[in-house]
Amino acid sequence: MTAYPLIRTKWSNEHIMAALFAVLVLYLLPQWLDKPGELFGFAVLLLFGLLIDVAANMFRYHKPVCAVSAAVTTAMLELLTPGVPLWGRLLGVSFALIIGKHIWGGTGKNPFNPAAAGLFFMSILFVVEFPPFYAAVLLVPAMLFSLPFAGFRPFAAGGMILGMLAAMLTSGELSIINMLSYGVVFWGCLVITDPATVTPDPLIGLMSGLLAGFLPLYLSGTVWALALGILAVNTVSAVTADNRGKAISLARLSFKGRKPFHYSIDEVKLIDAVGEETGYNGEMPELSSDQIMSRIRENNVFGFGGAAYSVYDKIMAVMSCGSKAGHLVVNGVECDPGLIHDKWILKRFPNEILHGIDIISKIMSFESIVLAVKDGEICHVPESVKLHKVADYYPVGAEKTLIKEVLGKEIPYGAFPAEQGILVMNVQTVLAVYEAVYLNRKADTRFLTAADLRNKKVQVVRVRLGAKIHETVEAIYPGQGYVFAGGGIMQAWLAEDEEVIDKKVNFLAVGRFPAYKESQLCSKCGLCRRNCPEGLKVNDIAKLVDEGKLKETEKLHAEKCIGCGSCSYVCLAGRNLSKRTLSAREFLRQKAVRFCNVK
Ligand code: SF4
Ligand code: SF4
Repeated sequence: MTAYPLIRTKWSNEHIMAALFAVLVLYLLPQWLDKPGELFGFAVLLLFGLLIDVAANMFRYHKPVCAVSAAVTTAMLELLTPGVPLWGRLLGVSFALIIGKHIWGGTGKNPFNPAAAGLFFMSILFVVEFPPFYAAVLLVPAMLFSLPFAGFRPFAAGGMILGMLAAMLTSGELSIINMLSYGVVFWGCLVITDPATVTPDPLIGLMSGLLAGFLPLYLSGTVWALALGILAVNTVSAVTADNRGKAISLARLSFKGRKPFHYSIDEVKLIDAVGEETGYNGEMPELSSDQIMSRIRENNVFGFGGAAYSVYDKIMAVMSCGSKAGHLVVNGVECDPGLIHDKWILKRFPNEILHGIDIISKIMSFESIVLAVKDGEICHVPESVKLHKVADYYPVGAEKTLIKEVLGKEIPYGAFPAEQGILVMNVQTVLAVYEAVYLNRKADTRFLTAADLRNKKVQVVRVRLGAKIHETVEAIYPGQGYVFAGGGIMQAWLAEDEEVIDKKVNFLAVGRFPAYKESQLCSKCGLCRRNCPEGLKVNDIAKLVDEGKLKETEKLHAEKCIGCGSCSYVCLAGRNLSKRTLSAREFLRQKAVRFCNVK
């Protein structure tokens, strides 16, 4: 079963490009009202551009589709090439779409931005005048409309606006009317609206934006300088983005302000499908560390965070690593935006968790004990425990990421935290340790999060392991809908009819199937790569998977994928990328097992 996110970013390439097209049309409208013949010429150009895109997509992907980006490229060339005859523009659009978009890769992380490439090509063949930007009334809504797009690349957009202002200042042409007529804000936002032509890296983005804004205006205000300037900084941007792969991949996926559910943790009520007293009032029995370990083993305490490891084995691994400086990290971070039960457990059972920490510290001594949370107010801890509030991004709760955040230690791929004396335990696991030792209770029930994706409702549920997933969900949220199970809203799968809740299930949900496009179309925006916590070249892996070349994904280290789903969430083309990277990972892991067996 392959897990994938049940939510996706609201933005898509089509939305961005459609809004950008609207901005361009708003800007061009006064000119068309003045000379209606130009509108006819644009209609011909637009139809031609769309047909070229359809033909190219038919050739490349065997699909007769055209993207809104082709309309945007056409409109930009219409705007930027006054005085060029229609046949010249048709040539320019052909060059932009065939060479700039389809051969060189698309509107995304592509040094040859299609419109700029077409513009440069046309400025070689024709005398292209610098377009007269009018401070028309319709420019105001166009500018305002384009401003939010600067949010995609704020540093690059800001740099470009500053660069253009600086060029005007240096040439003694800085005035309100010039700012409007050169379209400082308009261009600053418009050019950067190609969401990934310019890198999201703040420093490179700022520098690229400054150069792209400054050089064309300062050099001569000619079209070729404008096109060449944009192409040059895009090239620098793309090359440096690739070379700074690791730094770029530190982009953090945040769900602040766009949580998938409406709830207040204080008001969340427990739905108890187990029907037993929780009975968290036990007295700590007098037990030696061996006896404590026996209770942990006999009561089958496992990792509740999703890994389902044996806690007994994990503690033994840390004890046998020989490291003198042991660290205990209690993971209360719950990074998946769909999970709420760890927060709820921390609120309801703080004393039991602290007792659980005491028990673990009786078995072995630690140099530091850290309780990692997102909300520092969530509970009070004794001096022996350090409350560490971590940054709110996804997937900060992943074991190695959390260790880096909390202890500043990097655990390389293939190595285990236990080898460095680090024991990481989820809060529910610590609660289970407490129950196993204080109450001699088996770890055969669990708390999890159950969500209704249709109504954005969410509950904490206590279930028995082995309960049927469909029956459990139907009892909580009666009605029609697909039933999902998994590690969270970012890592879920469609539950089969007879599937049961096992140790790895943290999340149940009912709702619609996520609207992924099983398309191979990729704009090379690079968002998937930059949001991959493992720094993988996700779109390249996905391409190999689509072509059935699973073996070749080894070169791109697909085995490192942690299945977080960030790539599928951010993909502006709506592709389910984690499904592809996980299938590559599975293939490589099985290949490794086969190789070991043969040896
Ligand atoms: S490829 Fe990267 S972003 Fe995508 S699921 Fe794997 S680790 Fe997460
Ligand atoms: S696969 Fe990656 S590069 Fe391609 S459109 Fe999706 S996020 Fe952008």
